[in-house]
Amino acid sequence: MTKNPKFIILLYHKIGEYPKNAKFPGLYVTEENFDRQIKYLKNHGYTFLTLSELKALYDYYYCNGNLDNKYNINVNRQDKISNDYLINLINEKGRYVGVTFDDGSRTVYSNGLRVMKENGVKATVFMVSGLIGSVNDWDIKNGENEDEMLAMDDLKKMVNYGIEIGAHTKTHPHLTQISPEEAYNEMFASKNDLERMLNISVNFFAYPYGDYNKEVKALVEKAGFWGACITKTGRVKKGSDFFALNRIAVRHNTSFFKFKRKVFKVKLFY
Ligand SMILES: [Zn+2]
Repeated sequence: MTKNPKFIILLYHKIGEYPKNAKFPGLYVTEENFDRQIKYLKNHGYTFLTLSELKALYDYYYCNGNLDNKYNINVNRQDKISNDYLINLINEKGRYVGVTFDDGSRTVYSNGLRVMKENGVKATVFMVSGLIGSVNDWDIKNGENEDEMLAMDDLKKMVNYGIEIGAHTKTHPHLTQISPEEAYNEMFASKNDLERMLNISVNFFAYPYGDYNKEVKALVEKAGFWGACITKTGRVKKGSDFFALNRIAVRHNTSFFKFKRKVFKVKLFY
């Protein structure tokens, strides 16, 4: 087993062609590009992990291989990540990738799931829990087109397949611009509601707009999450702050060449 594993987390939003009048077309990645990117990672020996699996493996590599902790995995409250399960995830090259989707656009289900199923990708979707089956309210206020959000049925099907659901607040606010009480409620209610509605454990959080500070970070920890993702570019290294996990954003204009460079470039840092 390699002593230098490489953990990266990719950040996507919507899968599909962007509508002509989209204000933020960058947030769309076509199905074709997504498929090509996933196949590239697969062909280069990456193992696709949910963030709970990624955390379990990270601890295995960096916390003295201590497997005393049993991890709740997301699909069902009763499931634990057993040692055997974890050991099965280990790959010789130590290449691990967590695919994440922020917001919970329905396009992740309607366009993205086929690609994920075909390639055995287990990803993590950060859902705005107050907008299940609704539309992208916060984005519309920023001038974006209406986009359907995942409905309860879509979420259930994705959970059944093995997708992990993370929390992305209830209403998608800038967490540093509201009171600590409101911020805490946004996190805690989002986690609780998703857990109750889907009968899962919600272990990870993503800060809306990547907006956080020390106080907000402490609240995420207090709310009972295992970690949280930001939008700053980088990989997950030894000693990384799990409440400010770097990611690699993939956008509409990320050419295949750029994608490979992004994945390769983070590799240069170790
Ligand atoms: Zn968001």
